[in-house]
Amino acid sequence: MKTYRIAAIPGDGIGTEVVDAGVEVLAAVAKRDGGFAVAVDRFDWGGAYYKKHGRMMPENGRDLIRRHDAILFGSAGHPDIPDHVTLWGLRLAICQPFDQYANVRPTRVLPGITSPLRHVNGGELDWVIVRENSEGEYAGVGGRVHQGSPLEAATDVAMFTRAGVERIMRFAFGLARSRPRKLLTVVTKSNAQRHAMVMWDEIAVQVAAEFPDVEWDKMLVDAMTMRMVIRPQTIDTVVATNLHADILSDLAAALAGSLGIAPTANLNPERAFPSMFEPIHGSAFDIMGKGIANPIGTFWSTVMMLEHLGEPAAAGRLMQAIEKVTADPRFHTPDLGGAARTTDVTVAVIDAVHGANV
Ligand code: NAD
Ligand code: MN
Repeated sequence: MKTYRIAAIPGDGIGTEVVDAGVEVLAAVAKRDGGFAVAVDRFDWGGAYYKKHGRMMPENGRDLIRRHDAILFGSAGHPDIPDHVTLWGLRLAICQPFDQYANVRPTRVLPGITSPLRHVNGGELDWVIVRENSEGEYAGVGGRVHQGSPLEAATDVAMFTRAGVERIMRFAFGLARSRPRKLLTVVTKSNAQRHAMVMWDEIAVQVAAEFPDVEWDKMLVDAMTMRMVIRPQTIDTVVATNLHADILSDLAAALAGSLGIAPTANLNPERAFPSMFEPIHGSAFDIMGKGIANPIGTFWSTVMMLEHLGEPAAAGRLMQAIEKVTADPRFHTPDLGGAARTTDVTVAVIDAVHGANV
């Protein structure tokens, strides 16, 4: 029997709560399937580790997880440590060297969940946002000089490479082609950003020629926020830069009912390195330790992990279990207006996995 080796990195805050729940669910899915097993190694990296060792993960941390089949990640972010230290020291320290350049963020209004958009009941909002995850505005290029003096200056340079833009466009057109509507929106800001975004647009046109069966359009990012709210049914697959997609996907998560539901996959499509799956939310300092974090975003992320591992039946079964549970308001956590606790949702999903007759 195939055993998948999973590296679990809960991180900080509610990251630990939801990843522990995710590991339980994963074990249940494997048991129900019977065709594969999962072996989970847990790595206690993050804020507490930083306080002890002065860094977010050990120096050889990546070597410890390089040969795992996938990574389940919680959140990097600790109340006592600056956010740029936790983010660059852990999450980006894995994403960037492992070349997880395609960040995929599906958004749907799950059964039982209410969108803040009053005209949306479900089918009108079914998107996948593809975020460029290796360069652009978050390339880390820049500097700061003369700190504290009136001459102080700082730059964050958005760096786009032809290779980087081509590969994310190809990935996004390919993903759009695999979905029923074969419809892609390329988000840009080439009116104001007249160098890299103009190249981005040109490369979109070039790559589009390889995908004649995909219908596509181009949209400025500011106008895109309006379209997401006013005409959500006109959108299917979306590709955007690191910064633009970061913002648009939080909006998407909110429009789908809660940040606590939204999943994401950081993919290295060539499989030279393990890919990483995580809820899109952060450490949620305001609710950490209370046992009320919504674990659905993590469970949906494990669905994406199972798809990536090549276990579509198990992935489908888990997604069906998740939707059965969200449909029942007794299992809504406070972010969804309910009173359920993380463990209630977890137990309900595990029961639904075992009861699933697909
Ligand atoms: P956040 O996602 O942690 O929280 C935003 C709001 O959403 C909070 O009110 C929170 O309670 C709520 N929320 C988020 N997830 C929830 C869940 N699963 N269930 C119920 N409610 C949920 O964003 P923030 O407050 O801006 O950031 C807090 C910390 O997390 C910061 O240190 C930030 O840098 C970090 N962060 C990390 C990641 C990551 O590692 N991928 C992502 C975002 C934020
Ligand atoms: Mn974000």
